[in-house]
Amino acid sequence: MGMIDGLPPLREVIRAHDLVAKRQLGQNFLLDLNLTAKIARLAGDLSTCDVLEVGPGPGGLTRGLLVEGARRVLAIEKDQRCIAALEEIAAAYPGRLTILNADALQVDVSKYLTPPVRVVANLPYNVGTELLVRWLTPANWPPFWQSLTLMFQKEVAERIVAKTRTENYGRLALLAQWRCDPRIVMTLPPEAFTPAPKVHSAVVHLTRLDQPRYPANEAMLARVTTMAFGQRRKMLRSSLKALRPDIEAKLREVGIDPTARAEEIGLDKFCALSLILQ
Ligand code: SAM
Repeated sequence: MGMIDGLPPLREVIRAHDLVAKRQLGQNFLLDLNLTAKIARLAGDLSTCDVLEVGPGPGGLTRGLLVEGARRVLAIEKDQRCIAALEEIAAAYPGRLTILNADALQVDVSKYLTPPVRVVANLPYNVGTELLVRWLTPANWPPFWQSLTLMFQKEVAERIVAKTRTENYGRLALLAQWRCDPRIVMTLPPEAFTPAPKVHSAVVHLTRLDQPRYPANEAMLARVTTMAFGQRRKMLRSSLKALRPDIEAKLREVGIDPTARAEEIGLDKFCALSLILQ
């Protein structure tokens, strides 16, 4: 572990504050500060941005973000035990770190942040996916953030960046790729974390597009893709039959073969279909 700032090593912080990892909070900590600084660099230029960090834990990634020059960091942590450790970091970077002891699923962050905003997080799997879907489906586009740099289980990361005709291609890929450019920018083995999880992890960097890649009706796109991938082995003419009696004609109208399966259909075609079905 290399020292990147004047603060104590994370193992010492964890010992001093008795931060034994809790499984129910999905706590797998990154203790290598060179690695957390690298993740911070993958998020892009932070010097002109506020950074929203969800789930800072003992603060490894938080320190990486501050060392890499983030203008300000808002860190939201649910586990009260971590707050004293995070306050020591705040004291070392006066005016640059704000800590909220809260559940990130319950907080309206907009009032704490000044644009431009980048989001960076290493979260438990279930919370991460729920927040990703929320960040991708705001009431208005563009959203409050410029980019999302998020750690996931590798299998979830692969679903976000998946292309047509692959088993990972589905609703998450379509949702992410409709309004963002998502890329896997780093993969990490279980041993990178303490305690080590069972699976590999990956960091996904999503840059927002100013406008959706293709025009679409958002609600209908969600409905069509839920139905199509809900029965992904069926032909579209049968998985979408409940939507409309003339679904075969509508599929043909946008150039989709009614006997095709959901995973063969590109985002452009799903978007076109959502418009003629609205
Ligand atoms: N970012 C730290 C790191 O990389 O070492 C900790 C990562 S650990 C995988 C996930 C963190 O998210 C834990 O500190 C956990 O307490 C916190 N957490 C879990 N659910 C949360 C929620 N709903 N809101 C805010 N923080 C949460």
